[in-house]
Amino acid sequence: MNLYTDCKSCKKEVRIKSYAVTRPDLQMEKGDDFNINCKNCGTFEKKHVNDIKAKPNNFVILIGIVIGIVVTFFLWTIFGAIGTIGAVIPILFWQQEMKATKSFNSYTIKRK
Ligand SMILES: [Zn+2]
Repeated sequence: MNLYTDCKSCKKEVRIKSYAVTRPDLQMEKGDDFNINCKNCGTFEKKHVNDIKAKPNNFVILIGIVIGIVVTFFLWTIFGAIGTIGAVIPILFWQQEMKATKSFNSYTIKRK
């Protein structure tokens, strides 16, 4: 899962460097408002924690696909066709990313 927000002046995505999984986590880490710096146009902007959005991290899904292929290959050599069950691994990774993204985006902090 990647966290990002839109730059007000150039509308480009600004990535938020954080390992927070939920919005309250992010709030605890950075506070209610924090400054972001757009790498594209150099604008400094104050953002509320609710302005941050999450999207699935394609890299995590890619890792899931790689693990899926490796597991499928090993199971295939041992068990034969039943090894194709390993193909479910990338789907699980993808589902996990979607779930995390959705729960992050649907939960907002009460503004004071
Ligand atoms: Zn910008």
